Amino acid sequence: MNTFMSLRSYGANAEKGNKAAEEEILRIEKLISATDPDSTVYKINNSDNEVTLQEDLVFLLNYSIDRCFETDFAFNTFLYPVTKRWGFTTGNYTVPAAQEISELLPLCNWEEGKDQLNKLSSGKAIDFGAVGKGFAGDKAIEVLKQNGVTSALLDLGGNIQLLGSKPDGTDFKIGLKNPRGGEVPVAISLSDCAVITSGGYERYFTADDGNSYIHIFDGRTGYPVKTNILSTTIISKKGLEGDFLSTASFILGKEWLTDYWNSHNRSFDFVILYEDNSITYSQGLTGRINLLQEFSWTEVIN
Ligand code: AMP
Ligand code: MG
Repeated sequence: MNTFMSLRSYGANAEKGNKAAEEEILRIEKLISATDPDSTVYKINNSDNEVTLQEDLVFLLNYSIDRCFETDFAFNTFLYPVTKRWGFTTGNYTVPAAQEISELLPLCNWEEGKDQLNKLSSGKAIDFGAVGKGFAGDKAIEVLKQNGVTSALLDLGGNIQLLGSKPDGTDFKIGLKNPRGGEVPVAISLSDCAVITSGGYERYFTADDGNSYIHIFDGRTGYPVKTNILSTTIISKKGLEGDFLSTASFILGKEWLTDYWNSHNRSFDFVILYEDNSITYSQGLTGRINLLQEFSWTEVIN
C-alpha cells in the first residue's frame, strides 16, 4: 500500500505470521494499485489488451461492481477518469470546468458484462482506493490465522483490523481519529473485527476559489461530496465490507446507513462525527464506546 502499515502480532508465531502477512499485503497491492505500473489494475487501466486477472482481483471486482449497482453508482469503482482530472491521483489539483466533468462521467459507467472483466473499454479505469485496504487487511488476517497467530492488531493507513483479543484476553481499546486533529474523541473496546474510517479530512485541497475539495466523490455527479459529516467509522467482521460502507456512508449519509444497517441484520456497528460536534452511533456499541470529549448532541440509533 502507498500507506503507513503497522502490524503487531502476539504469541509464539508472531514473527513468522507478521512476515507472511506483510508479504500478503504487498502481493495484494501488486494486484490492485492504480499507480504501480507493474500492477494488474494499472495494466487494465492503461492497455486495450486483455489482461489475465488473478482470482483475488476477480473477487474484488465482482464485489465492487455489485456495490456500485447497490448504491446507484454513488459508490463508483470506475470514477478514476474523474478523480484523476481533479488531480487526486497526482497531487496536481485543479477544479475542472463543469463541461469537462460531464464529458468524463460517461467513462465512469460500468456497462460491460461481468464476463468481460479482463477488458475495460478504452478510457475507463478502476480505482480500488475505497476498498483495497480493507480487502488487503482481510487477506492479511487470514494469513496470520494460517500461521497460528491468534492475537494481532493491524493498522493499514488508519484502518484497524483486529485478530482475536489482546494476549491477556481483554478487548483492544481502539481510539477514533479526531477529524479536526488533536485528542482522540471516542474509544471503543473491541476484538476480532475491523474498524474502518472515512473522512474528508484525510485528503483535500483548497482551490483559488476559496473552497475546499475532498477526495471522496459522489460517483453520480463527479464532484467531491459536500456534507456535514466529518467522518464515518464502521465496525464490522470483515475489512472489505467496512471499507465499502465507510466510504459509501460518507457519501450517502446517516439515513442511508441506518437503512442499510437495518436491512443487513444490524450485522455491523457505526459511529458518525459531524461538523456541529454531534455524534451518532449504533446501539451495538453501547457499553463498549467511551466518549472522551463533550459532544453537542449524542444520538444512539436503536
Ligand atoms: P476511503 O478512504 O476508503 O473512504 O476511500 C477513499 C478513496 O476512494 C478516494 O481516495 C478515491 O481513491 C476513492 N473514491 C473517491 N470517491 C469514490 C466513490 N464515489 N466511489 C468509490 N471510490 C471512491
Ligand atoms: Mg473505504
